[in-house]
Amino acid sequence: MPQAAALATDQPANRYPIDEFLADIAGIEATTDIADLKRNSRDYYWYSPILADLLKNKAADVVVTPRDEGDVVRVAAACAKHRIPLTVRGGATGNYGQCVPLEGGVVLATALLNKIEWQRPGKVRVQAGAKLSDIDAATRPSGFELSMHPSTKRSAAIGGLVAGGTGGAGSVTYGGMREPGNILAARIVTLERTPRIIELRGHYCARNAARARAALGRCDRCLR
Ligand SMILES: Cc1cc2nc3c(=O)[nH]c(=O)nc-3n(C[C@H](O)[C@H](O)[C@H](O)COP(=O)(O)OP(=O)(O)OC[C@H]3O[C@@H](n4cnc5c(N)ncnc54)[C@H](O)[C@@H]3O)c2cc1C
Repeated sequence: MPQAAALATDQPANRYPIDEFLADIAGIEATTDIADLKRNSRDYYWYSPILADLLKNKAADVVVTPRDEGDVVRVAAACAKHRIPLTVRGGATGNYGQCVPLEGGVVLATALLNKIEWQRPGKVRVQAGAKLSDIDAATRPSGFELSMHPSTKRSAAIGGLVAGGTGGAGSVTYGGMREPGNILAARIVTLERTPRIIELRGHYCARNAARARAALGRCDRCLR
């Protein structure tokens, strides 16, 4: 039985069929522990006194931590089937409450989707939860690094930078995230009863994946 009802939230208890959801995703890491729910329902929104007050009692009903794309598809399908909202969580360094589950439901943490899949000169393909600093550590030996460095690069994930970021040191030269050439491709899992996997490339990718908050899969990033 989910423990969210015992959380000090301003959200009605038992809104969603969480037990049925958990049965559908059996085998995927999931927690309804109150401390986990609280910790995984926050980002840096508290920088704003207005958001600090508005968001302080928002909490997920369950946190899931998929290990691969197959797990992500199963979570998305179960959320769509049971009509449970899904909030994706990368490094949770966003400062406007972008990671806060405003209507509760499922928080999908990308912490274990952190593999660097391949690298070629000037390009890298990584899973969405890979930390920016880990990407740099993997590519530096071959003489490349990310083209922009947000000040949160040690804790932010690439999926969070693509979906919720703007740029960083390096953007004066190479532009912001949205500019063509910075995001080369993105693999998207749609939130439907039968999720589709869509791979966006080139111009469409930069325009549609950046800040779309829909990039659940992998990213190809340009390196300099
Ligand atoms: C002190 C401080 C300094 C900062 N400096 C910068 C800066 O220099 N440049 C800058 O651009 N930003 C900056 N930020 C904002 C933020 O740190 C960055 O945008 C960061 O890249 C977000 O990455 P994250 O992994 O923490 O994303 P999160 O906070 O986890 O997520 C951000 C948004 O993206 C969504 N999301 C995350 N992963 C996925 C995914 N795989 N699929 C779909 N949606 C996803 C989340 O749901 C959320 O809406 C700063 C924040 C702080 C607190």
